[in-house]
Amino acid sequence: MMTEEQAKALLLKQESVYTRAPELREAAFAYCEGYKTFLNASKTEREAVVWAVRQAEENGFVPYDPAESYRPGDRVYQINRGKSVTLAVIGTDAPETGFSIVVSHIDSPRLDLKQRPLYESAGISYFKTHYYGGIKKYQWTALPLAIHGTVLTESGRRVDVRIGEEEGDPVFFISDLMPHIAKDQYDKKLGDAISGEGLNIINGSLPLGEGNDAVKLGVLALLHEKYGIAEADLRTAELSAVPAQKAVDVGFDASMIAAYGQDDRVCAYPSLTALLELQTPARTCVVVLVDKEEIGSEGVTGLRSAALKHFLISLCENRGADYKVVFAASDCLSADVGGAYDPCYADAYEAVNSSYMNHGVAVMKYTGARGKSGSSDASAELLAKLASIFKKHGIVWQTGEYGKVDQGGAGTVATEIAMLNISVVDTGVPILSMHSPVELAAKADIYMMHRAVKAYFAG
Ligand code: MN
Ligand code: MN
Repeated sequence: MMTEEQAKALLLKQESVYTRAPELREAAFAYCEGYKTFLNASKTEREAVVWAVRQAEENGFVPYDPAESYRPGDRVYQINRGKSVTLAVIGTDAPETGFSIVVSHIDSPRLDLKQRPLYESAGISYFKTHYYGGIKKYQWTALPLAIHGTVLTESGRRVDVRIGEEEGDPVFFISDLMPHIAKDQYDKKLGDAISGEGLNIINGSLPLGEGNDAVKLGVLALLHEKYGIAEADLRTAELSAVPAQKAVDVGFDASMIAAYGQDDRVCAYPSLTALLELQTPARTCVVVLVDKEEIGSEGVTGLRSAALKHFLISLCENRGADYKVVFAASDCLSADVGGAYDPCYADAYEAVNSSYMNHGVAVMKYTGARGKSGSSDASAELLAKLASIFKKHGIVWQTGEYGKVDQGGAGTVATEIAMLNISVVDTGVPILSMHSPVELAAKADIYMMHRAVKAYFAG
């Protein structure tokens, strides 16, 4: 017969953070107050970069200058076109021992305005949109929306737009069909009920004078008054609609947070704050906050661009090291969200291998779909290294997988990191309602992610 102790040593038990480390509750709740501030200030990648750089500068980081010669403890950052930022703290070890890298993305699914967005119909002024990232279109109707973005006029003037976020700001709105006359809509498949071209944002109804485009003209007059822009300036602008709601606590116990864009700010914030708190590490530690993950990492500010590679090579050269040797010895956490098990949609999951809310950081060996396709599939060696670091630092962690086999799947930036010959594993916070206008995450997991990145940097 086996004793209870012997059985315990053999069985794996994944438990709640509140069971394993209940003493962390207070710290987790306090930590998440800062997280909510970050969420509210950073609904687009550009805003997230501004926020991150301000925090970094307050914590001694300076713009990276390849002509400088950096020493252990030095803190640098490099911005890529205002939409991505990479930060590093130089370590005491020889670069050839490798870098410790954490990558999170700061773009989130949303509705981008088209380049000729404005039109008028039935006395209402609208913006045409083209959605960005994987959304369920029906979730974006009948919801207060804010407009964020950047307009550059032909004369070179720059206007940063952010409307719908402050108390008293107007918001924007996409109508849905009333249920009373929705028979035909109800008969459609869920994915077809609202079309992409149907996501038109109401932005005004006051006419200026008379004529066909009187309401549109009224809106343009207000845009000119407020921002000094004309319709032609919208052709070159980047404007996006995001949910106007602020981050809020959820539950009688306030143990969770509902907010827009937690994929992947829920990993970006813990990664960034872990680096900011770092003193002088052994290995050089790097945090990458990157754009364009939600549309496949394409684009010059996404991870398929050579920007990160060039920065890392420059850092190696600065320290007199062969980047090929450094890369081969480096490893990376692709810090992105996991899809937490949702008991209300249990059929889509395989319960044993799912990650759970409040069970700590989710380590996902692979993502992908249809037989791990599109996954970088982390090695046993890297997983074991991480497990050993987590054990050493008391990190509560679990494994995770995106739903049951052949139910769908997901990709992350892990594949782009692997292309640099850097070992990589997906590690992140499990969330519910991923890619909804408002997503749900647990405070214990967010704080555990912060501790996990600190542990990874400490080694
Ligand atoms: Mn993500
Ligand atoms: Mn995503």
